[in-house]
Amino acid sequence: MHSKSKKMIGSIVRTLDTLWNRGVLMKSPMVCPICNDEPVTDAHHLISRKYWRTRWLIKCGLGVGRRCHKYPARTMTWLEKNRPERYEWVQQQRKLILTGQKPEPIDFDAVYKSLVRLY
Ligand SMILES: [Zn+2]
Repeated sequence: MHSKSKKMIGSIVRTLDTLWNRGVLMKSPMVCPICNDEPVTDAHHLISRKYWRTRWLIKCGLGVGRRCHKYPARTMTWLEKNRPERYEWVQQQRKLILTGQKPEPIDFDAVYKSLVRLY
């Protein structure tokens, strides 16, 4: 199998980001759960999107309003209090990312299929 060009990968990443964003928003309530005072417009990454291992997991996203999206620490406090299992999962993933061995190369096709399954 020949490797994909940088340009091609950039394009694939943008497509997956779009699908992930919409997928997270589809699973979110209409009103921001953090403040209950603005519409949900943004898909927030609970773990930095620089980590590809979790970047396109729906579980890694939370629909929030634009204002709350600017305060990720507040979102984590909310998560810990209101979604403790999810919060624990996020902590575990972070630990894996920071202490684990180098992750497997990302399988873009598998990620794509997991996202389009939502639609
Ligand atoms: Zn809000």
